[in-house]
Amino acid sequence: MPAISSLVHQLANNYPSLIFTEGRIARWSSEEATVYYNPREPHAEWVLLHETAHGILGHANYTRDIELLRLEHSAWHHATTVLAPQFDIVIESEFVETQLDTYRDWLHAKSTCPSCQSNGFEQHKHQYHCPHCQTNWQTNTGIDVGVQRVVAQQK
Ligand SMILES: [Zn+2]
Ligand SMILES: [Zn+2]
Repeated sequence: MPAISSLVHQLANNYPSLIFTEGRIARWSSEEATVYYNPREPHAEWVLLHETAHGILGHANYTRDIELLRLEHSAWHHATTVLAPQFDIVIESEFVETQLDTYRDWLHAKSTCPSCQSNGFEQHKHQYHCPHCQTNWQTNTGIDVGVQRVVAQQK
């Protein structure tokens, strides 16, 4: 895919503090200062600009879940209004809305009790509690990663 490799090349030039690496799942890793991109996914360039925006804006992966949606908004905003025009790319707002909807679903899944499906709340960072059945569970951390819920061992 020559189109995306030239975009990666230009982004790497413009943002030398960021590392760009091909990966199975597009994501930003603040620990590694690395933007992972997958050239084979639909609209890979838009997603790449989005992940790059997370990097430029210095978003940390270890963030409370309730803040993640705000970070998603700001990364898409930066990608759409600042990055895309530099490369004559237009990111469709419909695509962004779909991504944000997926994200909202993901956050909802994280806060759903794995035992009784009630709505829990984030008591501490990535640690949820169900007021209905008292189950505690942890979710995985990070921006743009799939949902995992791990029920805490009963003490
Ligand atoms: Zn994101
Ligand atoms: Zn429950």
